[in-house]
Amino acid sequence: MYLENSLTNSLHNQKRPALPKMILRGLLRKCAWCGGKGSFFTSWYGKAPQCQTCGIHWERGYEGYELGAATMGVFLTFGTIIFWMVLSVVFSVPLVPLLLIAGALAVVIPIAGYPLTYTVWQGVDLFIRAPSTEDIAAAEAWLAAQGR
Ligand SMILES: [Zn+2]
Repeated sequence: MYLENSLTNSLHNQKRPALPKMILRGLLRKCAWCGGKGSFFTSWYGKAPQCQTCGIHWERGYEGYELGAATMGVFLTFGTIIFWMVLSVVFSVPLVPLLLIAGALAVVIPIAGYPLTYTVWQGVDLFIRAPSTEDIAAAEAWLAAQGR
């Protein structure tokens, strides 16, 4: 069940952030909902099940959540490689350096961009599926258990 007024965040009694703002927060590796810095990550790859600032969960009962984040990773990686290849053609980069750099991008971008794919997808997911009353209740219960 979704909130009747999905533009209101009852957790902090704030309006739901706009999609560009949530995506920007995701690009900065922050929680798309509250803007808490590094809220979901205990390390570069280690994820907590909920935001350490506002308590909202990643998946919110949606089992296919990782598929959206993986799709973001594919777009990021392939987009970067295609951009590099277009630049290489425009500036007449020789074939061997073009392929070496494209291969390096294919390895480095997924590793470096892993957390960003999750936080950006969280922003898109929160825009598509506003937090339900159960999501808000679970987040508030987690915050209360943490003494906040
Ligand atoms: Zn948060």
